Amino acid sequence: MARRADVIIVGGGIAGAASAYYLAKAGLKPILFEKGEIAGEQSSRNWGFVRQQGRDPFEVPLMVECNRMWQGLSAELGIDLQWRQGGNLAMAADAQRLAALEAWLEVARPFQLNSRILTNREIRDLIPGIEGNWAGGLYTPSDGQAEPAIVAPAFAQAARALGAEIMTGCAVDEIVTAGGAVTGVRTERGEIRAPIVICAAGAWSSRLLRGLGLSLPQLVIRATVARTTPAKAVTAAGVWGPEVAFRQRTDGSFNIAAGTGTDYHIVPDTLRHGRVFWPNFRENRKLFDLHLGTAFFKALLSELPLTEAGRHPFRAVRVWDPPANPKRVADALAGLKRVFPELGPVEVTRSWAGNIDATPDAIPVLGGVEEVRGLLIATGLSGHGFGMGPIVGRLMAELAAKGKPSLDLRGFRFSRFREGATLGARSVI
Ligand SMILES: Cc1cc2nc3c(=O)[nH]c(=O)nc-3n(C[C@H](O)[C@H](O)[C@H](O)COP(=O)(O)OP(=O)(O)OC[C@H]3O[C@@H](n4cnc5c(N)ncnc54)[C@H](O)[C@@H]3O)c2cc1C
Repeated sequence: MARRADVIIVGGGIAGAASAYYLAKAGLKPILFEKGEIAGEQSSRNWGFVRQQGRDPFEVPLMVECNRMWQGLSAELGIDLQWRQGGNLAMAADAQRLAALEAWLEVARPFQLNSRILTNREIRDLIPGIEGNWAGGLYTPSDGQAEPAIVAPAFAQAARALGAEIMTGCAVDEIVTAGGAVTGVRTERGEIRAPIVICAAGAWSSRLLRGLGLSLPQLVIRATVARTTPAKAVTAAGVWGPEVAFRQRTDGSFNIAAGTGTDYHIVPDTLRHGRVFWPNFRENRKLFDLHLGTAFFKALLSELPLTEAGRHPFRAVRVWDPPANPKRVADALAGLKRVFPELGPVEVTRSWAGNIDATPDAIPVLGGVEEVRGLLIATGLSGHGFGMGPIVGRLMAELAAKGKPSLDLRGFRFSRFREGATLGARSVI
């Protein structure tokens, strides 16, 4: 392992792996450290939607550019990412939800996106066999899907081929600074020096940054997903309705999730950051099942240096693998069968969960921080960062190589929390 690099990346999810690729492509020498395996956490566990629609206005320009990147990505990385530009559809059960989706078309207008509102009839024409009396839906034909388990490893492999070092099973214990600037990281295999460190540590970023005295408001939500047996081909669109969200994969199986509802476990961070999350939580409280139990005490113990887990929290959990919620699996399957009564016998073959890292305004933090020179943050992707991963990686590489991103990142600045300048959650999906 090299002892010096141009850039160190902490985290081997899609944000970190894509950063490694674009940095190496720009001629820099990055080292990526991943405590477990590439895409072990959120980046392999997500639904696989790649959507421009429904996003926060700050995110739309990034996603328009990213959508363009996705179209050539399999060819560029030399690996079939199972990218399909089959569109994305958000279905509304009532007029109120439809109005919110419709209002978002104003956000899309400057970008000439092909987003439009579909009637119930048009939804049925688009997805043969779908049942339900929908108020309508927001549809963007240029959106797509890809296979999460393939994408981040493909970026890591392509980065390695260009000279990046990818170190798995190696936790970064802390980011090291001197005189207000990063000098490198301390890992479980020793210290590595670099003038730039990218924090792409997903749900662990807040904890890692706390070591630098930085307070990143970030909470973690458990989301359950399941896969079914294959069925006849129905649609290449990613679809999200109130009962079920689904994506049919190329082998005919569906990735499904309950259309609403996630699990939130109260932990010490809830107390630490709860105040800034409160407005968003209050607005969406029906979406969360709150749990207070062992997770709180486990997290509390991991903050005390009494145990090995407390002394080395990033080594203690190599791959955060939360249990799926069986009720949500059953709800999702029942929802799929209700919207497709003629689908035939489909059963769940496996289920899993992932811990989504979220910020109070549900948009990421992207870019440098005033307090620590050389530190770049690419985290807080808030449940929709798989689709955005490639552009996040490219922008991090631009910042590291040229000091200037090609797209406006001011809306994603870290200081917005301290300034009290968050605009609330403005995405509609
Ligand atoms: C169930 C579910 C469904 C989703 N559906 C979608 C979707 O359809 N479309 C979409 O766009 N997004 C979706 N998302 C969100 C998306 O998966 C995430 O936003 C994205 O994968 C985040 O990528 P990341 O690289 O920031 O984090 P992660 O993939 O979580 O990667 C962070 C990595 O950092 C590593 N790490 C942390 N700390 C350290 C350390 N100290 N040292 C070394 N390594 C460290 C971790 O082990 C981890 O592998 C979904 C997420 C979930 C969980």
